[in-house]
Amino acid sequence: MYGKFQKYLQDELKAIEEAGLYKRERNICSPQGAEITLEGGKKALNFCANNYLGLSDNPRLIAAAKKAMDERGYGMSSVRFICGAQDIHRQLEKAIAKYFHTDDTILYAACFDANGGVFEPLLTAEDAIISDALNHASIIDGVRLCKAVRYRYANADMADLEEKLKEAQAQRFRIIVTDGVFSMDGNVAPMDKICELAEKYDALVMVDESHSAGVVGKTGHGVAEEFNLYGRIDIHTGTLGKSFGGAVGGFTTGRQEIIDMLRQRSRPYLFSNSLPPMICGAGIELFKMLEESDDLHTKQQENVKYFREKMLAAGFDCKPTQSAILAVMLYDAPLSQKFAARMAEEGIFVTGFYYPVVPKGQARIRVQISAAHEKQHLDKAIAAFIKVGKELGVLK
Ligand SMILES: *Cc1c(COP(=O)(O)O)cnc(C)c1O
Repeated sequence: MYGKFQKYLQDELKAIEEAGLYKRERNICSPQGAEITLEGGKKALNFCANNYLGLSDNPRLIAAAKKAMDERGYGMSSVRFICGAQDIHRQLEKAIAKYFHTDDTILYAACFDANGGVFEPLLTAEDAIISDALNHASIIDGVRLCKAVRYRYANADMADLEEKLKEAQAQRFRIIVTDGVFSMDGNVAPMDKICELAEKYDALVMVDESHSAGVVGKTGHGVAEEFNLYGRIDIHTGTLGKSFGGAVGGFTTGRQEIIDMLRQRSRPYLFSNSLPPMICGAGIELFKMLEESDDLHTKQQENVKYFREKMLAAGFDCKPTQSAILAVMLYDAPLSQKFAARMAEEGIFVTGFYYPVVPKGQARIRVQISAAHEKQHLDKAIAAFIKVGKELGVLK
């Protein structure tokens, strides 16, 4: 049997390659950070990690992870409800709830699982899910696993959302679902308007804080802080894999009964292993650190502002951003790939995106700014952008 299937896979892989969509991986041989070392010893500056607060190699988190491993072991060898829950799992859940000002939290192996397991336990075919067109793949998959009627509104388009809410009055319960920050443009969802519409049309509100947590809001606590919406958002999902240390782990945090029901019925929680103790130990330490000081968030914000202003002054076309993500517009797909490749040769890692990841004719370089970046890193990246921009005719 494999012969025929192998031929089919080989042809498909070749088609992916010919379309220029084949993904290759570069191996890093150092901790994740602003400066990384590649296989072979070459160094580079990293501007394409979700390491927004620069915590991926933080000594306090590493020490807390080691301590948890020494005291609580390596793995749990169980799902939570059989014998996979330690006191530190509950402590981390409570720390997350405190951070987001919610009632309670449920942990998952990843935010992909949190989103995959949030809809089906709560909603039925009688209900409606109204989802932003640019929501993350894991939300789309979670929606697919649920029998609720689906509506999709154009990205952050409140007139379209209102239309969909009117149509969805036919269903019993409605939930509006959005990413907090959209990862291609770096724009923040208009949560204040979303909450107003939700109240007008009797809908629940869910936001995925993966790219917004640690970044958006006066002290980085996410969209509820940014728009002063405490008590008005029913469900937040998020990841420990971006701002919050960058290891692994996801969560859903929100209203008590919602979290209680997920613990009873959410399949990625019930049928998948507990987070290892080291993740819980480091996570508890992380939220302690964020409570002690806002310095990392402040530095991250200053870095974005500095970088964007210098890039605009140099003549680059940058989208407005309210996050750690900066889209440098090139519009042309092959140019975006050539640009990113030349930047890599200059020792700067950025990613070129084009259709179908972004709309046709909207190709760009995405830069992700971190609190780990020092001024000298930013200046080096800007200098490389200007050099490559002139060379490729983007700048005059
Ligand atoms: C990164 C991301 C996820 C996935 O998070 P993991 O914890 O890595 O699974 C989910 N949703 C959004 C919006 C993301 O950006």
